Amino acid sequence: MATDYDDLRSDVKESQDRSLEALKSANAPDARSVVTELNEADALDEGLTPGGEIVSEELIVQVIPQAEDEFTCYSCFLVRHQSQLARETNGHSYCIECEG
Ligand SMILES: [Zn+2]
Repeated sequence: MATDYDDLRSDVKESQDRSLEALKSANAPDARSVVTELNEADALDEGLTPGGEIVSEELIVQVIPQAEDEFTCYSCFLVRHQSQLARETNGHSYCIECEG
């Protein structure tokens, strides 16, 4: 009887360890795709949702490292060099490609 319990326990523990490792290895791509989705949603909502600004800024910094001489175009959401800055309106920058 006691032996059966031990066997059962080690089986359960093993499968728990296995699922934990599966979670760990599956976590990385999942978290990344979630961040990407959040970033895209925030980029669209940016400026429309007061208070969510800090969160979206953190996400953009994590996903797109932006140098001091670069800006993110508010129309195409691409990181551009300052030399491609065509217009700034209400703190939003627009690149020369979007401005034509
Ligand atoms: Zn643009």
